[in-house]
Amino acid sequence: MIIVGGRPAGATLAARLGEWGHRVLIVDRATFPSLPQVPSSPVLYPSGMQLLDALGIPEADYGVPEAQMRRLIIEFSGEFSVEMPVPRMRDGRAYVYGLDRNVFDARLWRELERYPSVERREGFAVTDVLREGERVVGVEGGPHPRAGAAERERLSARWVVGADGRFSLIARKVGAEVTEARDQHTSTAYFADWEGIEPIDEGPPAGLVHTTARGLDVVFFAMPGGRVSINTHARSDRVDVRGDAERHYHETLRSLAPLRQRFARAERVTPVIGVKRIGNGYRRASGPGWALCGDAVHYKDPVDGQGIYDAFLGAELLAAAIDVALIGDATWEGAMASYARRLHEATHPMFVATTGRLARELYQEPPLAVIRTIIRWTLSDPDYQDTFLRVLSRELPPPAMTSKRVMARAVARGLRGELRRRLERALGRRDR
Ligand SMILES: Cc1cc2nc3c(=O)[nH]c(=O)nc-3n(C[C@H](O)[C@H](O)[C@H](O)COP(=O)(O)OP(=O)(O)OC[C@H]3O[C@@H](n4cnc5c(N)ncnc54)[C@H](O)[C@@H]3O)c2cc1C
Repeated sequence: MIIVGGRPAGATLAARLGEWGHRVLIVDRATFPSLPQVPSSPVLYPSGMQLLDALGIPEADYGVPEAQMRRLIIEFSGEFSVEMPVPRMRDGRAYVYGLDRNVFDARLWRELERYPSVERREGFAVTDVLREGERVVGVEGGPHPRAGAAERERLSARWVVGADGRFSLIARKVGAEVTEARDQHTSTAYFADWEGIEPIDEGPPAGLVHTTARGLDVVFFAMPGGRVSINTHARSDRVDVRGDAERHYHETLRSLAPLRQRFARAERVTPVIGVKRIGNGYRRASGPGWALCGDAVHYKDPVDGQGIYDAFLGAELLAAAIDVALIGDATWEGAMASYARRLHEATHPMFVATTGRLARELYQEPPLAVIRTIIRWTLSDPDYQDTFLRVLSRELPPPAMTSKRVMARAVARGLRGELRRRLERALGRRDR
C-alpha cells in the first residue's frame, strides 16, 4: 500500500495498518517538522485526543498546560460577553488544546518508527499515478514536483491512498469527482501567532471568539510557549485580499476598535498564512486501486475545528476497510463501498451543522434587539453551552446544537431572568 501524505490522515492510517503488520510505504513532499501546506489553525478537541489515546500517543507529547483551554469566551462586539466552561467529557477531559502543528504533525510522523512494516519517505513529491488499464497500481514522483526524468521514481503498490489534503493531487489524477459541495457560503481565514497579547483576564487560558455579527469574527487561541494564535474569519464575498494577505490581516484586526488595546504591546511572531476561499464538500472516496482519506475526501470550513478529528476518524474507518480487503473477507470494491458509507454516516451530520453555522453566523446579520435578547440568552444558558461544546467534541449528535427544545428552554430562562431583573429594579426604585 502507498499512502501519499503523512499528516493527521495519512500518518494515523499508516500507524493502524502498521499495527496489523500490513506493508505500507508512506510518502510526503514535506519534510518534518513543518507546517501543513494548507494552513490550519490549532484546535484539538477531546474527541481527537481520544483517537490519539487509542493509537498510544500520550497527551504529554502534544498538549502543554499553557495551551490547555478550559473555557471559551464569546464577545459580541460592544454588546455582551459570555464565558462557557468546557464540560467534562466522557474521558474526563474538560479542555481543548491549542496545537503547534509543526510539533504535532512531526510527532505523528515519528510515531511510524514503531512499526517495522511501515516505510517512510519525506521530501518525496508525487506527480502522477501509475495505471494498468483502469486500475491505479502505483505513483510516480521525485524530490520536488518539477523533478526531471533522471530524478523521478516509479513506485508500485497494490493500492494507493491519497491522504494529500484538500487540494489532493491524487484526487485530480484519478478523476475523483466532487459528490457534494456546499459553497454558497464560504469563509476567508488568515492567522498568525503573537507574543505579548494582553491577557483576557486573570483566569486560566481561554479561547476567545470576538464576533461583529456582521460577517467577521476574530478568534484567539492559547498556544504553546505562551503565544496566542489570532485568526480572522470573514465571509469571503466581502474580502478582497488583493494579493497581500499580511496587509489584509492587519487591516482587519485594526478595524476592530475593541480589540486594539489587546495588541498595544504585542508582536506578531509568525508569518500571516491562510486560505482565501475555503470550500466545503466531499469527493468520491475510492475507485479501482485507489482511495482517498482525510481532507482529500472531505473538506470543510474551520469554524468548528473538526478537520483533524475527521481525518483521524476517516483513517480509522479506512484502515478497518483495507484490513478486511487484505485478509480476503471482502473485495476492494466491497470494502471501499462500506468505507464510503461509514465515513458519510460519521461525518455528514457535522458537515451539515458546520455549513449551517457558517451561513447563520457569518452571513446573517441579526438586528441588535435580537443580539441583546435571544442570542444573549441562548449563549449564556448553561444547558445550551454544555450542548454546544459536547457537539464540538462529538459527544452529542450535531443536530443537538440547534435543537428547538434546548434553544426554547434557553430563551425561556433568559426571558424569565430578564423579567425578574426588571421587576427587582422597579421594586428597588419604589422602595427608595
Ligand atoms: C484555515 C483553516 C483552519 C483550520 N483549523 C483547524 C482547527 O483549528 N482544528 C482542526 O481540527 N482542523 C482545522 N483545519 C482542518 C485541518 O487542518 C485539516 O482537516 C487536517 O490537517 C487534514 O489532515 P490531512 O492529513 O487530511 O491533510 P493535510 O494536513 O493537509 O496533509 C496533507 C499532506 O499531504 C502532503 N502532500 C500533498 N500533496 C502531495 C504530493 N503530491 N506528494 C506528496 N505529498 C503530498 C502535504 O505535504 C501534507 O503533508 C483547518 C483548516 C483550514 C483551511
